[in-house]
Amino acid sequence: MQELLKQGLTQLGLDPNCAPALEQYAHLLVEKNKVMNLTAITDPTEVAQKHMLDCAAVLGSLPEGASKGIDVGTGAGFPGMVLNICAPNLHMTLLDSLQKRVDWLGEVADTLDLEVERIHGRAEEFGRDSDYRGQYDFATARAVADLRILCELCLPFLKVGGVFLAMKAQDYQEELDHAAHGISLLGGRILPAYTYTIPGTDLVRKVIRVEKISETPEKYPRRFAKIQKNPL
Ligand code: SAM
Repeated sequence: MQELLKQGLTQLGLDPNCAPALEQYAHLLVEKNKVMNLTAITDPTEVAQKHMLDCAAVLGSLPEGASKGIDVGTGAGFPGMVLNICAPNLHMTLLDSLQKRVDWLGEVADTLDLEVERIHGRAEEFGRDSDYRGQYDFATARAVADLRILCELCLPFLKVGGVFLAMKAQDYQEELDHAAHGISLLGGRILPAYTYTIPGTDLVRKVIRVEKISETPEKYPRRFAKIQKNPL
């Protein structure tokens, strides 16, 4: 797996030296997955490509000078833990509502000697907490929710000038069109999407990028039941 990771990282223009740590992370993931539901992907090649390299590719979409990021609905650490491994200069916060997953991420951080903040809780609650609201240069999310919901969960975390990076498959346009009105209500504007192909595959992926250009109104994020029932 390490060779595959090294080649893929090089192809993405990233430092291949993080391949050993990514491989160790992949090993911990597959082992823990035997007793805890972390991922449906367990084949080593697929773990390397669809988790590690897919997430590492997001580094190419970060705004210039960004250092503080939050990964919303990180699950088993995707993409946040991978970003932390590949770019240890980033200050990442990994947020998830499932305690067991957050605890496991703590074990990974200890084993790999990583400094990464983990928080257990709901994005819509932390997004109202002044210790987290308006504090981040970027926010990421993969496979968490529809973009209309995600934008309400993620934009409140950003500083003005920060960027929300939503990892999506290629056919994102309709979802983005539906979210456009909500994005402007939340103080955001849509930037051109970032496109990449997962190395070693023909899978084309998109990072939808939304810049926060003004403060998000105080009433957002709403309670989750409301967000879900009546997305912006
Ligand atoms: N991002 C990871 C990935 O790509 O593999 C995990 C995806 S998993 C399908 C979605 C995760 O989002 C779950 O771990 C769930 O607990 C978390 N989640 C969903 N809604 C959330 C919310 N409102 N606040 C925090 N975490 C949430």
